[in-house]
Amino acid sequence: MRLVSTRDPKHRATFLEAVGRSLAPGGGLYLPDPVPCFADPDHLLEHLSPQARRKEILGRLLGDEMGLDDLGAISASAFDFPVSLVRVAPRCYALELFHGPTLAFKDFGARFLARVLAWLRARDGKDRTILTATSGDTGSAVASAFHGLPGFRAVVLYPKGRISELQERQFATLGGNVQALAVDGSFDDCQALAKAAFADAELSARLGLTSANSINIARLLAQVLYYWDGVALLRDAGIGDPPVFVVPSGNFGNLCAGVLAHRMGLPVRAFVIATNANTTVPDYLDGGAYSPRASVETLSNAMDVGAPNNWERISRLHGDDPSALRQAFRWGHLSDAETGFVLRELKGLGYQADPHAAVAYGVMRERLGITETGLFLGTAHPAKFADRLGPILGTEVELPAALAQAVAKPLLSKDLPNDFEALKAALG
Ligand SMILES: *Cc1c(COP(=O)(O)O)cnc(C)c1O
Repeated sequence: MRLVSTRDPKHRATFLEAVGRSLAPGGGLYLPDPVPCFADPDHLLEHLSPQARRKEILGRLLGDEMGLDDLGAISASAFDFPVSLVRVAPRCYALELFHGPTLAFKDFGARFLARVLAWLRARDGKDRTILTATSGDTGSAVASAFHGLPGFRAVVLYPKGRISELQERQFATLGGNVQALAVDGSFDDCQALAKAAFADAELSARLGLTSANSINIARLLAQVLYYWDGVALLRDAGIGDPPVFVVPSGNFGNLCAGVLAHRMGLPVRAFVIATNANTTVPDYLDGGAYSPRASVETLSNAMDVGAPNNWERISRLHGDDPSALRQAFRWGHLSDAETGFVLRELKGLGYQADPHAAVAYGVMRERLGITETGLFLGTAHPAKFADRLGPILGTEVELPAALAQAVAKPLLSKDLPNDFEALKAALG
């Protein structure tokens, strides 16, 4: 597969080059060009097992560089947990993506990325420092995926006091080759610090700095797979119409993967963008100027992003044309009060959602046509937000064993001022 920079068609790369570099020269993001397309998507959806389908899709994307057999093995070991489809209401389904080790959909991208980089290290012998800024779940997924992997160190930057205690404990208690840095600032500040580190050529080369954020193309490609799973599971359940996917969005990597899946031939009726009060993209689609801004804190904190870095990819995929974007998507946003209301409504339907999925469900209800089938993405296990859900739902949310164990361990994170020199010193 060949990739091209969102900002300059002269900057092209292979997948393996793009994975190591994450940002293209000049700051652009990599996109497949062309996006390979399956002539017979029904075959993948109806006649292949999930593992065989994933191998086929990854093979089409990356087979020329990594070989089909290695991709099959990587995929089987990275995605060794189920994706489940749950009927929540008539024509409304949840696609639960949170049954991996850290109970969030980010396990897909992080586990695939770790295995691709380990595959690369077996060939180039190069040690790497994985640097990631997290608004919540990325940190735990990345830390878990790289924890104990020889030749790798994982450094997690997170906004001190602005992620849930459980989220923090999932990565800041690991130790070993995982370093957790609590930044005195917002998620956007963390992201800016990480960007500055990658832009520092000396530092970047010396440490083998590699991004695990959703700007890394490996994460995006792994996420393409579960959109196919979603449509296949619906067909297994007897629903043949292409669904409307509702994507709870923050940095817009998830939506970007959905768009790529669609371009590869996946039958999709529409994509609905769902955000919380961080409405940079909905405001733009409503006809405003595109104006990235500081994030505001909400109940669905993994979506508290005011400057979504993957929007650049989605925009490029639509020719950077606002009217094409408005035609391609539906969109909506929910306040925290509305999210609380939806959480209680879902509980009444017998479904316990986390705040992010609740935003998706709430927006879906406003944007779904009466004959359409809606599939909203369940991005995190509700137990990860037990502290927030308890007061809203009036019941305790039970912790799965893996989380309960993490809570009992001591925090090993270090405080970091919002300052690049301080980060450089911490990285060593
Ligand atoms: C990261 C995250 C999101 C947002 O995904 P993006 O790809 O950044 O849009 C939504 N929900 C949860 C639980 C997350 O961790």
